[in-house]
Amino acid sequence: MVTAVFPGSFDPITRGHLDMIQRASRLVDRLIVAVMVNTSKQPLFTMTEKVAMISDELTGLPNVEVQAATGLTVDFMASVHATVLVRGLRNEQDFGYERDIAWMNKSLDETIETICLIAQPPYAYFSSSLIKEVAKMGADVSKYVPTAVAKKLHQRLGTDQHD
Ligand code: ADP
Repeated sequence: MVTAVFPGSFDPITRGHLDMIQRASRLVDRLIVAVMVNTSKQPLFTMTEKVAMISDELTGLPNVEVQAATGLTVDFMASVHATVLVRGLRNEQDFGYERDIAWMNKSLDETIETICLIAQPPYAYFSSSLIKEVAKMGADVSKYVPTAVAKKLHQRLGTDQHD
């Protein structure tokens, strides 16, 4: 039984993340989406909010679950008996970043293998950060994030449409 972890900050979850989750779920027996803290990013949503938002989008994916995790990814993976770490690659910039993290994780725990899935258009062109930027300016972001997430995002940023 292969358990994989898809870690990220998911601030918030995007349609690109969901595409990764769907594709990764077909490769393994069990996939855990791990909501983690990225110390170089200032989050807009709390861990609890993010777990709830992701959980609402996982219907129809019986082998996928979401958990909040703190500390090192490798320690979280050991605690859930996961051996595969899934990440997404959108471009060359992601590659350099993901390669360094993969090397570091391998050096921390040699039993872990990182698998990177190549993001496909149109998902490869956006990030949670970019979506937050345009949402802040009032753009409708439901093309990039699930409808319920877009609503929460606009509410949080004070850009929701009132009739
Ligand atoms: P982190 O802060 O750990 O990078 P993110 O939530 O930004 O967390 O990203 C989690 C993973 O999802 C990363 O591997 C990232 O490359 C991938 N990812 C982010 N946005 C997209 C997207 N639009 N399409 C596909 N993969 C994505």
